[in-house]
Amino acid sequence: MSAILELASIGISFGPLQVLEDINLRFDVPQMVALAGPNGVGKSTLLSIVAGLRSGYSGTCCAYGKDVRRWKRREFARKIAFVPQSLKLDFPFTAEEVVFMGRTPHAGGFFESDRDRGAVRRAIELTDMGEFAARDFRALSGGERQRVMLASALAQEPQVLLLDEPTSFLDLAHQFAIYSLLRRLSGEGILVIAATHDLNLAASYSDRVVLLRKGCVVADAVPCDALSVAKIDEVFHVRAEWVHRADGRAWITFDDRAGDASL
Ligand code: ADP
Ligand code: MG
Repeated sequence: MSAILELASIGISFGPLQVLEDINLRFDVPQMVALAGPNGVGKSTLLSIVAGLRSGYSGTCCAYGKDVRRWKRREFARKIAFVPQSLKLDFPFTAEEVVFMGRTPHAGGFFESDRDRGAVRRAIELTDMGEFAARDFRALSGGERQRVMLASALAQEPQVLLLDEPTSFLDLAHQFAIYSLLRRLSGEGILVIAATHDLNLAASYSDRVVLLRKGCVVADAVPCDALSVAKIDEVFHVRAEWVHRADGRAWITFDDRAGDASL
């Protein structure tokens, strides 16, 4: 059986800069995956390859057995949704209209169906964006926009959800709420892959962490192994400690004085 996603020998350079080098990854089951690594390591580039938005790379990336470059965009978008880090709109769409745009791949005609409206309503509820649904998207804060973009992707009703730092502008409560939601969605059968540099979000909510360093995968495992103290030191040059709480959850703390800060 073909994997949901399979990346084979992916490599990409920008001029003399080799960003990704021989990336091999398979995603066979719905689960919550964090794609972690320092700034500039290639997380966004890798996600955009998987989302079918890049050309000019070596190797192949297949979704459901078919190269992402060969999919018809509309069919692809019915299965795979991508939430970019930011979205620039030139027209005064309301937040709700942006969520409706997520239905485009499913739209059968000019008018939206009950199913479209139901999917949009659910997405708005799940992302807690009802109170600003009627506002101009361009006037929203970064965190509010992130929730609208996620809602738009959820309205797409995808089987795979790719997110590029989905909580970078969110306050703490919404960071936890969104990661809880992503985790729940993965439990309901969606493969979720979220790029993040927040190791605690990765550790707390993921089934699997793919850790990148210098364009290569240096760990692909459950959080406690992929984000071991030794790996964090190797990749981020920061000394870390796992703190195990009485309630069974674990948290990573960092010591900014002790690591080798030379990058
Ligand atoms: P990350 O998301 O892990 O922070 P990116 O994937 O955005 O990293 O970028 C990886 C590297 O590739 C960076 O050095 C970035 O400057 C470079 N890069 C990304 N896209 C382009 C592009 N279109 N042209 C030139 N360099 C790029
Ligand atoms: Mg990025």
